[in-house]
Amino acid sequence: MSFETLGLNPDLLRALSDLKHESPTPIQKQTIPPIIEGRDVLGVAQTGSGKTGGFLLPSLHRNKRAQGNRTRHQILVLSPTRELAGQIERSAREYGKYLRSRTVLLVGGTDMRRQIDFLRRPWDLVIATPGRLIDHMQRGTINLSHVHTVVLDEADRMLDMGFLPDVETILKALHPERQTLLFTATLPARIQMLTKTYQKDPVLIRL
Ligand code: AMP
Repeated sequence: MSFETLGLNPDLLRALSDLKHESPTPIQKQTIPPIIEGRDVLGVAQTGSGKTGGFLLPSLHRNKRAQGNRTRHQILVLSPTRELAGQIERSAREYGKYLRSRTVLLVGGTDMRRQIDFLRRPWDLVIATPGRLIDHMQRGTINLSHVHTVVLDEADRMLDMGFLPDVETILKALHPERQTLLFTATLPARIQMLTKTYQKDPVLIRL
């Protein structure tokens, strides 16, 4: 199976070809079709499996398709640490190099003023740590009402780090009809609770 057969946008295919990613990894084969269809996904996978592409590629595909239809389809990715958020941002810039999408990294330790300026104009993709996103929400400097896809990456680590209340505050602030993608290395009871409460009939993908 190739990325072409999965039906990804030509601009994404070009970027994948530049990156020499010739075929999807097993997790990408399983996540891309249901995410393009708009389904919720619960992905149980480790780092290194290609899961970042597994959620970014189909989300960027939907974002681009929405632009073509002159609607907005914003993507929000939550990550436990600044380092991981930075890696996701780099992947998003590589995959999205031929898309005209506005991407911003919202993590602590970076310039708040610049983030606020960036958020004043319509954006496509926000990659954030929960604490910094909550900060923007409390200041009223981010509007989440057009978020159609939210990704919780390394959700088990986020909960281990004590982010459950922040994650719940964020999820409750989003549109109820959004798509929710949850990636985790393990499936403890608290993750099952998150899934039950915030996902709709998720496709379970386990590697
Ligand atoms: P991840 O698990 O998403 O952090 O990805 C691990 C590494 O695999 C990253 O360096 C990616 O650039 C690389 N990668 C992801 N998808 C593919 C693919 N389909 N073909 C080749 N390399 C890939």
